[in-house]
Amino acid sequence: MGLTLAGGAVAGVDRIVGTWLSQRFLVDLRTAVVRHLQTLSPDFFQHSRLGDLLSRMNSDVAAIETFLVSGFADTLTFVLQIVFFTAALFLLQWQLALVSLVVIPLFWLTARFFSGRIKTVSRERQRLAGSIGSVLEQNLGNISLVQAYGQEDAETGRFRHQAERKYRAEMVAARLRALYSPSVDLIELAGVLTVIGTGAWLMSQGRLTIGGLLAFLAYLSQLYGPVRNLGGFVTTAYSASAGAERVAELLDARPAVADRPGAHPLLRPRGRIAFHDVHFSYPGAAGEALAGISFSVAPGQVVAVVGASGAGKSTLAKLLLRFYEPGAGRITYDGVPIGQLTLSSLREGIATLFQETLVFDGTVRENIAYGRPGATDEQVEAAAAAADASAFVAALGDGYDTRVGERGRRLSGGQAQRIAIARAMIRGAPVLLLDEPTSGLDARSADRVAEPFRRLLAGRAAIVISHDLATVREATEILVLDQGRIAERGTHRQLLRRDGLYARLWRLSGHDPGDPGEPGKPTPRQPDPDHPAPRQPDPDQPAPRQPDLPQPQTSPPNVPRIPMPRQRPESLGDPQRTAIIRF
Ligand code: ADP
Repeated sequence: MGLTLAGGAVAGVDRIVGTWLSQRFLVDLRTAVVRHLQTLSPDFFQHSRLGDLLSRMNSDVAAIETFLVSGFADTLTFVLQIVFFTAALFLLQWQLALVSLVVIPLFWLTARFFSGRIKTVSRERQRLAGSIGSVLEQNLGNISLVQAYGQEDAETGRFRHQAERKYRAEMVAARLRALYSPSVDLIELAGVLTVIGTGAWLMSQGRLTIGGLLAFLAYLSQLYGPVRNLGGFVTTAYSASAGAERVAELLDARPAVADRPGAHPLLRPRGRIAFHDVHFSYPGAAGEALAGISFSVAPGQVVAVVGASGAGKSTLAKLLLRFYEPGAGRITYDGVPIGQLTLSSLREGIATLFQETLVFDGTVRENIAYGRPGATDEQVEAAAAAADASAFVAALGDGYDTRVGERGRRLSGGQAQRIAIARAMIRGAPVLLLDEPTSGLDARSADRVAEPFRRLLAGRAAIVISHDLATVREATEILVLDQGRIAERGTHRQLLRRDGLYARLWRLSGHDPGDPGEPGKPTPRQPDPDHPAPRQPDPDQPAPRQPDLPQPQTSPPNVPRIPMPRQRPESLGDPQRTAIIRF
């Protein structure tokens, strides 16, 4: 009774202490992984599947958890029991004890045989859990696309395929476990029979009593229990180690850029940015993404970076934010090479507006205050007012406490843009980095953000990245990038006069070459074999048939044509739209 009570008390304490230790460890582990993920460059996330990352944080860490909670404390108990009962057996009858230990190597060999296979299948299982997560994430993240293209069944099929693979891996694991148990039972039985046989022989020699043999067998059963449990524990250990490997992979990913030793913060930034002959190639890429870029921008100036897709515009922004180090050349902020500044202070000195991530799921207030953690309500409201967002925010159900939905689904493009402008305003950084500031906005919404944009740009140094030439024609300097090089540079008028690549792109987007400053009458497009792809289909010309693609069914001749609003050849010819550009 005493032992039972003591055992109960120890087990209770063990559970609490074990859980406390393992849960503390897991909180720290998860936080360490999340902290580490924050330091990795955006490219890492472009190459990783989000669902897989989440699965590493959940099910892989959970596998480690099971090991820690049950496995670790139990192992200690088993080892202590094995030591205690082995000693007891040797005290009772050392010859029999030696015989009983003969089967121990068999236990060990069996555990080894199974453990290799269990490890492989555990790895596969955890990997498939990651794949299931990413299939689901892809599917639900793009649900509108899935439904619009009627891909629901195909997506369910893809999910099922992964789930079936996981099921098969689980079944292999179950079969291994199912085989393991009887194998160990057999070994145990062989051990007991050998002991009984040897015991009977010793009895016949008069060196052992029946009572002695029974006592020995009772202790022996106590020894084999923990030995087999220790073997069974291999499964948990290998699951945990497969999980740990996948978590360690995340921790091993190195950030492309980190603070250098001796990096100092940028104090009182003024906002002068300069690129000096900057070259850069992506790791593993053959050619240079940027080659010999030099320019500078000071407060009150706007440098526009234009060029076709793939010209290197976003790469330039990534280098300024120091997501990568340039291969050659220097980028300076207020004359200091940005590599000598701490990353956090450099990025604090730059307010960015990315088209694809204008808002996140949270309240309007949280979205604006994100620009400056700890901002007061007054500051948030003042920034919203400056961004012309106060009126529509007031009209939302809960005002500043309204949740905007994931990726701001409950806001219009223009509203999300104004919240992002308010966020950039509250940041108070002297440098602005705008990536495609007006793309995705219709003429009216673009017009409504024109004034907020103008206020945002006032007195700041701005780098505006755009493929939309009309948005940048008021810029102090326009850099025309072509395959990573500055093909041309100058003001809008200078570039038109030069009649080079810029002028050609300008004409291609349907503008009048002779009327550079004002919204022009669209000129007839000039086909250019080197630069095809005008951005808007010509309403007067039927779209060329693409023989390889399924064609829409044409209406029979007797069905009247539904009148469609005629598209302007170039939406930027809209005077309202043009207003925005006058930053
Ligand atoms: P833009 O923003 O002008 O469309 P980018 O700066 O994104 O152009 O790309 C410039 C070039 O670098 C392109 O050739 C592109 O394929 C390449 N590139 C962009 N991102 C990566 C990357 N993460 N790894 C390798 N190459 C990249």
